[in-house]
Amino acid sequence: MSYLPLHPTSHPTSHPIPLLTSLATATDSMTTSASNFSDSLASLADELARQSFPSGALYVVATPIGNLADITVRALKVLALADAVACEDTRNTGQLLARYGLDKTMFAAHQHNEREVAQKIVERLRAGDRIALVSDAGTPAVSDPGARIVDAVIDAGLPVVPIAGPSAAIAALSASGLVADQFHFIGFLPSKDKQRDTVLASLASSAATLVFYEAPHRIADTLAACERAFGAERRVLIARELSKLFEQLHRCQLGDAAAWIDADPNHQRGEFVLLVEAAPAKE
Ligand code: SAM
Repeated sequence: MSYLPLHPTSHPTSHPIPLLTSLATATDSMTTSASNFSDSLASLADELARQSFPSGALYVVATPIGNLADITVRALKVLALADAVACEDTRNTGQLLARYGLDKTMFAAHQHNEREVAQKIVERLRAGDRIALVSDAGTPAVSDPGARIVDAVIDAGLPVVPIAGPSAAIAALSASGLVADQFHFIGFLPSKDKQRDTVLASLASSAATLVFYEAPHRIADTLAACERAFGAERRVLIARELSKLFEQLHRCQLGDAAAWIDADPNHQRGEFVLLVEAAPAKE
């Protein structure tokens, strides 16, 4: 996971408050005066100071999916208040915290130690700590570790507070223009071709937009498998490197997807969300 820096040339230990101040001065003066914007940010900070962040709670905090600026003010507040941050990878989260001037105790909470670490977190919450749970990118427990920890905390009768924010699936859906009343989040397909094709076949007549996460080395194969399962006419949105420097959103019919992938080697690089439009309604 690599983050797109806020300002590539700035120092990595800048503090959030100067960031908010510079946001105020960067506002388009035609639409909002800088002082109005700055006043609004100051009153938001006051409001946040009055909000309650109970101790003895687990905070499930969404973090950026690439662009470091995509973090909420509330997430920063919770990270600043937390007694410790449970992270998928402490090096990765360390970078994020350092970028916002936060020096925090971190410990690893990943798919290989989730059960054991859940007990440790329950004990710390019982002792009154605030623990923030983050994954490497986006929303914890969405194709990421976290659900077992949350489950253990709920079972222990302790509070869990979601701090909403980025998720690649939702970002792609929001910019897809694929109209459906439902979406079905599948995440990563099985890596074995036969199992993948079985899953795709079971989805062929779904009335929901289908949401897949995919790795770059499998993107071409997965698009070809989708074409076989859903037909060449079904539309797909290929959302690549969302929120990052080389972000691309390409919508086409599945039958044209291979040509787009082959047109530029960069089209197979980076992180991907694929959205396949819902099956046409039956007459
Ligand atoms: N928890 C994350 C979320 O809320 O979206 C998902 C984590 S999952 C391990 C990582 C996968 O999410 C990537 O392989 C890719 O399919 C998708 N993803 C994450 N960041 C992305 C981005 N910036 N652009 C496109 N896809 C992304």
